[in-house]
This record gives sequence, C-alpha cells and structure tokens, in this order.
Amino acid sequence: MSKTTSRRYDVVSAARNYTNGHTNGSAKKPTMDEIFGSHTFSMDEMRKRLPKEVFQSLVATIQQGKPIDAGVADIVALAMKEWAVENGATHFTHWFQPLTGSTAEKHDSFITPNSGGGAMSRFSGKELIQGEPDASSFPSGGIRATFEARGYTAWDPSSPAFIMKNPMGATLCIPTAFASWTGEALDHKIPLLRSMEAVNKQALRALKLFDVHATQVYSTVGAEQEYFLIDEEFAYNRPDLLTTGRTLFGAQPARGQELEDHYFGSIPDRVLAYMTDVEEQLYKLGVPVKTRHNEVAPAQYEIAPIFENTNIAADHQQLTMQVLQTTARKYGLYCILHEKPFAGVNGSGKHTNWSLSTNTGINLLEPGDTPHDNMQFLFFCAAVIKAVDKHQDLLRLSIATPANDHRLGANEAPPAIISIFMGEQLEKIFMQLVKGKAKKSEFKGLLGLGSPVLPPLPLHTGDRNRTSPFAFTGNKFEFRAVGSSQSISFPLVVLNTIAAESIDELTTDVEKLMKQKKSLEEALQEVLKDVVSKHKRIIFGGDGYSDDWKTEAKKRGLYIKNTALEALEAFHTKKNPALFAKYAVLNEREWFAREEIMFDIYFKTINIEGEATASIAQRMVLPAAIRYVKDLASTVESVKAVGVKSSGIMKTLKEASELVDSLTVALDKLVAINADLGGDTLHSKAKHMRDKVIPAMNNVRVYADKLEKLVPDDFWSLPTYQEMLFVK
Ligand code: ADP
Ligand code: MG
Repeated sequence: MSKTTSRRYDVVSAARNYTNGHTNGSAKKPTMDEIFGSHTFSMDEMRKRLPKEVFQSLVATIQQGKPIDAGVADIVALAMKEWAVENGATHFTHWFQPLTGSTAEKHDSFITPNSGGGAMSRFSGKELIQGEPDASSFPSGGIRATFEARGYTAWDPSSPAFIMKNPMGATLCIPTAFASWTGEALDHKIPLLRSMEAVNKQALRALKLFDVHATQVYSTVGAEQEYFLIDEEFAYNRPDLLTTGRTLFGAQPARGQELEDHYFGSIPDRVLAYMTDVEEQLYKLGVPVKTRHNEVAPAQYEIAPIFENTNIAADHQQLTMQVLQTTARKYGLYCILHEKPFAGVNGSGKHTNWSLSTNTGINLLEPGDTPHDNMQFLFFCAAVIKAVDKHQDLLRLSIATPANDHRLGANEAPPAIISIFMGEQLEKIFMQLVKGKAKKSEFKGLLGLGSPVLPPLPLHTGDRNRTSPFAFTGNKFEFRAVGSSQSISFPLVVLNTIAAESIDELTTDVEKLMKQKKSLEEALQEVLKDVVSKHKRIIFGGDGYSDDWKTEAKKRGLYIKNTALEALEAFHTKKNPALFAKYAVLNEREWFAREEIMFDIYFKTINIEGEATASIAQRMVLPAAIRYVKDLASTVESVKAVGVKSSGIMKTLKEASELVDSLTVALDKLVAINADLGGDTLHSKAKHMRDKVIPAMNNVRVYADKLEKLVPDDFWSLPTYQEMLFVK
C-alpha cells in the first residue's frame, strides 16, 4: 500500500470512530426562562441597572430613534461595562457588518492606563458611541481612498449588546454601524436602517387612509438557514472545501438523494447534540430559534428562528451563521454554509420571510378570514405585487452571487426568474378585482385527516408551492431565492425600499381620487384594479422548475437573467440609483460602491476557485492517476514476460493514460486562462472569469471525476462524496 492509501482510510476511520465527549443530556438543564437572553444587555437588564430617567431616555432612542445625549451614553456605558464584567468579559468590541457579507470585530480591553503608571478598568460613553477601527482593508467600493482610510463605527442602541464567550473568557460585543468619515455607509446595517425608515414613513401615511393609529411600522423577518454538516476530518482533507467553501471535484456516488430518505428523517445523535448546543448558545444571545430538521440532501439541515424586527433579525442571522460554524468544531463537525457544496445534490438557501407590522402588533399582510373585504390587506398586498413586478431586476440583483449561480434555476431551487406565488384563493380575488369588485373568498374548508381521533385542521388556502422564488405563505412573503451564505441585509434593503416606493405611489393615487370626492372604498377599488391589471404578469402559480415556465415568462416579458453577472448589470439602469436616492437609502456613490464590490467579489471568488482547481488537479489527482498508469504498465510487462495475453490490462492502461493526457491538457489551459486576468477593468475581469475560467475549471473536473471512477480506491487521497455525505 502506498502512503496515500493509509491517509484517506485513516480519515474515514477517524470520522467513523468519533466519540462525542460532550454529554450532559441527563444533567439538569437550566430552563429556557433562565437562559434566554442571559448573554444580552436586555431591556430588563437596563431597567434594573439604569436610573429611571436614563432608562426612559434610552428607550426613546431605541423605539423612536431620538438622538442620545452624551451624559446618558456615559451612564449606559458604565452600566453595560459592569454587567459585562460580572459576566466574565475582559474586552469589548464594536461588532459590525462590512460589505464582505460577514461580521468584523476588533477587541479592546477595558484596561486604561492611569496617571500612576498602573492600569484601571474603564469604558466611557465615547467608547460606547463611537469607534475608529483601522478600516483601510474593508471593501469600500471606491468610497474611501486609502489615504483617507478612516472609518467610524457608531453604536446601534436598537440592537442589544451581547457577550460572546470563548473557552478562556468573554467579549462584550456592541452592534454598530460602519461609515466613512464623510458619513457614507460602508456596511449593511446603515442602508438597512434607512430602508426601514423609508417603509415606516410610507406605511404610516397609508395607514392614515384606513384610520389605523400606529406610530411605527417596521418590517419583520424570519430567515430559515440551510446548511451542511460533515465530519471535520473530511473537510481538512479537502483543500477545495477549505479554500472555496465547496467541492470542486467529486464523482457522483451510486446513491445520492434519490431515495429522499433524509428529509425530515430522524436526526443522528451527534448532529442532535450539536444542534442542541447551537440552540442553547443562541438562546443566551437572545436569538429566538425555533425549528430544526433534516433537509432534502444527505447531510443537510435547517435552523429557523421566530421572526423579529428586521434590523435585529439581520444581526441575529449573522450570529446564527457564526455560532453554527464555531460550534461544529466542538463536535468534530464542519459546517458548510455555501450555496452548492456538492454537485448533484440539493444546494442550500435561506428562505427570507418578510412582512410589515405596526408597533401595535398588526401584521399588515394578515388576510383574515375574508380577504376580499379586507381592503387594507389587499392594499398592502397589491403594493408588494407592484413593487416586485416593477423591480424584478433589483430582487434578482440582490441575490446575484457566484455561489447562488449554482443553485438558482437548477431543478431544486427557485428559478432565476422572479415571480410571485399568491395561492389559489388570493389569485382569484385579485383577478376578480381586475374585472370589477372582489366578490367572494373561496370557502376555507376543513381538511379532514381521515381519523376521528385527529382534529380537523383549517385548510390554509395559501397552499405551498416550493418552486416559487417569492411566495405568499399565509401572512408574509417568503423570498426563497436568497443564498444560504449571504447576508440577508441587502435583499432586505431592496425589499423594504421597493415596498416603500410602491406604498407611497398607491397612497398618492388613492389620495388623489379622494380629493375628487370619491369614497375611500371607490378610490381603493379603482387603484387596486389598476395595479393588478398592470402587474398581474408577475403572479404565477404553476411549476417554476418546468421549461414551459421559461417560455411563458419570456412571453410575459419578465426579467430573465441566468447568471449573476448579467443580473449585476441592473446596477446601471436609470431607475435604480434614482430609487435608492429618492428614499434616502443609498446615495449614488454608495449605490455604485456596492456594484464595484459585488463585481470584485465575483471576480475573486472564481479566480480563487480556478487556482484551487489547478492545484488540486496537479498535486492530488494527477499523481494518483500517473501512479496507476505506472502500475498498469509494469503489470503489462510482467504479464507479457510469463507469456499471457492481457487485453483487459492494456485496455485499462490505455484508458487511464488517455485520461491523464486529457487532464493535463485541460489543466494547462486552465492555468493559462486563469493567469490572464481578463483585462484592466473589474467588469472585463469578471466576464473573463465567467466565460473562460469557469468552463476551463469544469473541463478539468470532467477528467478528474472520470479518473476517480477508474483509479483504484486506495490510490485516491481526496475523501469521496460517498464518505463525506454518508459517514456520520
Ligand atoms: P413554514 O414556512 O415552514 O410554514 P413558518 O410558518 O413557521 O414555517 O414560518 C417560517 C418562518 O417565517 C419563521 O422564521 C417564522 O418566524 C417566519 N414568519 C412567520 N410570520 C412572519 C411575519 N409576520 N413576518 C416575518 N416572518 C414571519
Ligand atoms: Mg419556508
């Protein structure tokens, strides 16, 4: 046996023989009440620790966005520090979300030198409110030249500070926004907050029509996170997974997900222990996670929270991704968030459920029992329909990443064409509106379960359609095309802003008609009829995976862009920068900065994948194949020496040797093409990656995967799909 042999088998056996050292399943666990939010500087904690006036002033800041004054900040800082230190924190960090899509932190200790040459523990209001990380290495999309590299972080009091524990200590994390010294947003939080304000303003205007007295409307979000878990031994032996987040090689195993026996199946013990641990940590951080289950692909799982205010939900979503990844190590697992880690089995998404709610607790997308006469519901629903139809390009753009390209439009994920699934009942109601007045709602029958023991369930008329990228599911819309590894913030910025515009326009239309002495009902009738007739092409209840839909969508004139790069062209339309500027969400510089960053990320991602493909092919695949050729060649010699005819051996030798030839040709081509970066502009480089490097990479993989099926198992050093997906 050669050395590689023992190496891969060692890996498999390490994975198989993993024993979980973390067992406290039988120990008495703290109750949910005791742990939920225990690592956050929550409202309760603030109320307990702050003087009454300070607390009230802070609440006014949190709930109504009133500016905080320096005196208050000092007192809050002191209380926050005391709380953090009592909980073991020695350091604090301004926690922010740069445009890389992940989170960033720079830790400072609470220690400050004192005049006597010693040190004391201190944390001031100034340090709480503002930080100045040396931020020159975060992407700014040209907003900030390196000579003016200063970036500021600013405390977001509306998202609770929290403590992150590590095995040796703890850090106080303060959610912050991140901006350039000129005040331009360098992060995902600032535009998200601005977009929430835009939709708040317009929705409040609209609610006046309906005589609803709320003082605030905010968007709500619950994001369902899909992910893969494999034994970490495999990951450490797959340089492709480690460097790119996905496998760049791997022949299809005899069994993939055909049997569909993983979906909702019982969860393996080790995974369950891991999930329990993840949930406990998230509870402590105040993240209300609620469901967990197996997903469709082998080794794929999902975690979903209860929905929250969008700003907090977005912070909590980042924490969820972080905790999922860091906790995996404790259980000898590796958590993969990539949209398509394994070819041939389903990829991962992040269904982003979205709605609008008043501060008095009314969900504006709740149809009630008779939606046809719930004009308020129909108004907001129609506003979303208009927004999605008018700005298909923006929604498509907000999810345009190289990783999501592997998923969208494959027969498992929403198609790359944006459309809305409304459900039969609502679709009928809207079509009635076009013809005149909405007359009746389909009767909601009872769904009998065929057994007298089981209670009849009310039949949800908004039934399920898993193939729609944007579906109405009962009392919220579910944007399903969002990728599993991306920050949900940008898609939500888009969603909030287009909703704000649409609500604005519908409200103005209704107001105009009412000025012409029409009743509210007449005005609404007329406006809704107009909106639905103009935008009904976006509503589609059929099978989004079918080819018929592609033809139909083209006929309807819908926006069809199959790849991320095509979708990113929508940054340059006239309407898009104008829209974000009008609602004060992103100014032109901020908007085009995001374009530059998305192109840059696209280019770099593929460029790195190309290099990883070349390196693995060269150092791991080719040597195994050549070794096999050598083995076969000497076998031919020996067999010939004893006078036996060996057509089978010759045939195999020929096949292996031809594949080696093809692989080397493909590899040389990839290396040359990837080294030629494709010009001077980001756009041309990105195009070069898509049009030249991706096909060259795929070509290398074709021969490598063929070799995997030919070369003896004990020569192969890369863990196989079968091992990664099925050894648990
Ligand atoms: P499913 O989509 O499987 O039916 P749920 O109805 O429980 O599951 O919802 C999925 C996600 O949608 C959860 O995260 C849930 O909290 C969230 N959700 C429910 N209602 C709303 C709402 N009004 N706004 C935003 N998200 C919501
Ligand atoms: Mg869902």
